[in-house]
Amino acid sequence: MKRIRLATAWLSGCSGCHMSLLNLHGDLLELFELYELVYSPFTDIKEFPRNVDIALIEGAVSSQDNLEMARIIRERTLIVASLGDCALNGNVTALRNPKGKTTVIDAAYTQHNNQPGGFGSDVSTLLNSALPLHHVILVNAFISGCPPEPDQIRSALKQLAVRL
Ligand code: SF4
Repeated sequence: MKRIRLATAWLSGCSGCHMSLLNLHGDLLELFELYELVYSPFTDIKEFPRNVDIALIEGAVSSQDNLEMARIIRERTLIVASLGDCALNGNVTALRNPKGKTTVIDAAYTQHNNQPGGFGSDVSTLLNSALPLHHVILVNAFISGCPPEPDQIRSALKQLAVRL
């Protein structure tokens, strides 16, 4: 039987949603009889692959890198699901929105910067606001919670598999 090609990614989140997925513990073995994990923060695959069946995306879109990644994921995936409240509505990541981009950058990289020589130029450019995923790409499913319960994730994966 061909397994379902599953990807997970985190944009601007705390990784808690992925920890919830890991909290399925031994049940993950059963899940991976059905799913092949083709991309995830847990794997060492550098490039988001093509022909992904389902992608679970944690975190809001708050930088140019996030935006680019979200677009790549959309282009290469059949079913995109927001995983957790940061992806759904900005949640914790969006707490910075009322302060504005400049204040956040100043606080992080100037006022509290004790790195000699600064952080360098490889820090991704922040967007003006942290945005829910569905504000920048089409999202097919939403798994709510901060983080979603492991059982919720398992049940969502099973329901999404039926749509394929
Ligand atoms: Fe972390 Fe909660 Fe956001 Fe998930 S929804 S990334 S657990 S803050």
